[in-house]
Amino acid sequence: MKYIQQALEKYWGYNDFLPFQKEAMGSLHRGRDCIVVLPTGGGKSLCYQAPAMATAGMAVVVSPLISLMKDQVDALVECGVDAMRLDSSMSGSEQADVIDSIRQGTVKLLYLSPERLLTDGMMNLLQNTKLAYFAIDEAHCVSMWGHDFRPEYRKLGRLREIFPKVTIAAYTATATKQVRDDIARQLSLNDPAVLVGSFDRPNLSYKVQPKKNIVTQVCSVLDRYKGESGIIYCIRRKDVNELCHDLQERGYKVAPYHAGMNAEARKRNQDRFINDEVDTIVATIAFGMGIDKSNVRTVIHTGMPKSLENYQQESGRAGRDRLEAECCMFYSGADYGIWKFLMRDMPAEAYGVAMNKLNGIYAFCTGTACRHEAILRYFGQTLGKDNCAACDICLGEVDSVEDALIIAQKILSCVVRLEQRFGSGYSALVLAGSKDKRILENGHDKLSTYALLKDFSKSIIQSWIEQLVGQGYLEKYGEYNQLAVTEKGRGVLKGQTTPRLMKPAEKKSTRVSKPTAESWEGVNAGLFEELRAFRRQEAHERGVPPYIVFGDATLRNLARQRPSMPKGLTSVKGIGTQKRQQYGRAVLTIIGKYCEKHHLKMDVSDELVPTDFSTQRQSRPSRSDAKERAFELFTQGRPIREIAATINRAESTTVQYLVEFIRAEGISDPSAWIDQQTAEKIQRAIRNVGSKQLKLIFEHLNGAVDYNTIRITLACLRNP
Ligand code: ADP
Repeated sequence: MKYIQQALEKYWGYNDFLPFQKEAMGSLHRGRDCIVVLPTGGGKSLCYQAPAMATAGMAVVVSPLISLMKDQVDALVECGVDAMRLDSSMSGSEQADVIDSIRQGTVKLLYLSPERLLTDGMMNLLQNTKLAYFAIDEAHCVSMWGHDFRPEYRKLGRLREIFPKVTIAAYTATATKQVRDDIARQLSLNDPAVLVGSFDRPNLSYKVQPKKNIVTQVCSVLDRYKGESGIIYCIRRKDVNELCHDLQERGYKVAPYHAGMNAEARKRNQDRFINDEVDTIVATIAFGMGIDKSNVRTVIHTGMPKSLENYQQESGRAGRDRLEAECCMFYSGADYGIWKFLMRDMPAEAYGVAMNKLNGIYAFCTGTACRHEAILRYFGQTLGKDNCAACDICLGEVDSVEDALIIAQKILSCVVRLEQRFGSGYSALVLAGSKDKRILENGHDKLSTYALLKDFSKSIIQSWIEQLVGQGYLEKYGEYNQLAVTEKGRGVLKGQTTPRLMKPAEKKSTRVSKPTAESWEGVNAGLFEELRAFRRQEAHERGVPPYIVFGDATLRNLARQRPSMPKGLTSVKGIGTQKRQQYGRAVLTIIGKYCEKHHLKMDVSDELVPTDFSTQRQSRPSRSDAKERAFELFTQGRPIREIAATINRAESTTVQYLVEFIRAEGISDPSAWIDQQTAEKIQRAIRNVGSKQLKLIFEHLNGAVDYNTIRITLACLRNP
């Protein structure tokens, strides 16, 4: 492992491992087959790249797409690693050069497609070459149970017969146990070490909101990421074209991508996006395969995808560099209708599966559970904490409705009165007391449930109806998505269960706006922009994407640590020997000049630098001016939201500080932050369910009191 660690430092400029990397690399190094399942951004590629630098022979990496191979080889060459690829896009003489290098034994990592690997010529060549191991990337393609089965991957089973002594390792981001077992079987792996990490992506924050004015909603997200990269997914090509046009008119740098465009135009737009020439790509799901752009800061869905797997995969293209990124979905009941319509001709069994998945994601959208937890549960894992601090629900951006039972009963009664023959739009109008012609003609203004929710807008009522569908109290049936009350819904009418209803998000997003993001802490934004311009220019000259020259994390580290001497560059994560030699001098000059001009302190210690967001959230370094300032403001009795804005932190972080403050000061009376009635409610709940699990208290209160309020009250109660 010592040699691997040295290689990690020398070539990649990293001084520690991400979770499971050490085990995965160790397994390869010791010659044990393995299956590594880590989420996107989990650091899989390094698991098979770094050991190659500490193992005799050439490692062969199998990858399904030329674009992925090219990206990885470009990045490795930038780090000074002898990596090459062989694929059909290369000229005859380029390919001959690579074969020569293999014969001479100067290649450490060779990237190939499965088709190429299994040709007789390549087999011959490899049998006469000293091999370190085979690494099969995107290994779920081996399995018919996976989401991207490729017949040519299946043939990789022959590797074991032909190279019985060479270690084989498989890597994937998406694998159920069934797929994992299938991978092991198909590749004839020998007692493989199976390493499965958490699927959680803690650097992604999820926001899910009902669709209202989609252009305005999209713009409000893009405005938080000016000049940075984003992907917007639309369900249909038509939506791509329209939204693209609207955004261009408003001055956003966007480009379209969908299967209806010719290949050349698609490629051009993809390249402009990858090279940071346009900020945002507006696309159908045709976009994304083979895109490894690491610095995508936001993925926006303008409609609900057809399953949670699709959502996880598409939204997962954000934040591959492990820095914070935001995934926003705007959904509507109409999206549900579109998918249902598109699925109508499926064979019965497939239709059943697809509808289950559709209902699953709809429940996710309209649900009130932590988004991270909901996604993990879908994949059979759990988060293991009750507040992820990175979704609209846990950040308290969505308020629960206090009298959810009564509202739900009114809605369900109305559906019954309408004889379960109408859809959500019409039912909402009746409940809102609309004078719509159809309602008057049908005499529905005479119903006892007419105008029962007249104090609310139609869109809020409709959103509640969709939430009740998502939670299984109502169901949609028939061609027009008419509503019917389910068995579970009857329980609500009898007052036996209370649904959770959310007020549609009116609150402003508190998290991940640039200055609040924790990974921006200490980063000088002006210097970051100068370094970014340098990166763009270098990338352009070298014909590689900017993120391959330096990742965003490395640029932020530079703009935070601001080294003055070559030695200082060694402690900046992501700069190995080759990059130091290549760009060091230019980078130091830019930093030196900028700091002199702006009187900035240089050589800031990296001890307080948050470099890995996933570990940082659990154990943050000792904190900072922000907490001090928060304590001061707590003493002055300022409101939490105002304090959060002043110290540039999310409300949830501010509440954490407040809990510490309460503890430190021994405060036992929560009245400065919580009204007496609510505090009493919480105390009653605690008497019933104890104080060990916040979730139990939250649920006992039917979600009517948010986690932050419960936390603050508990902190006070714990003081004598
Ligand atoms: P995956 O292949 O699982 O999607 P990558 O290999 O692309 O993930 O790695 C994701 C990000 O994490 C990249 O920006 C990579 O440079 C970074 N990374 C990988 N290993 C480490 C490490 N040991 N320390 C710091 N950053 C790392």
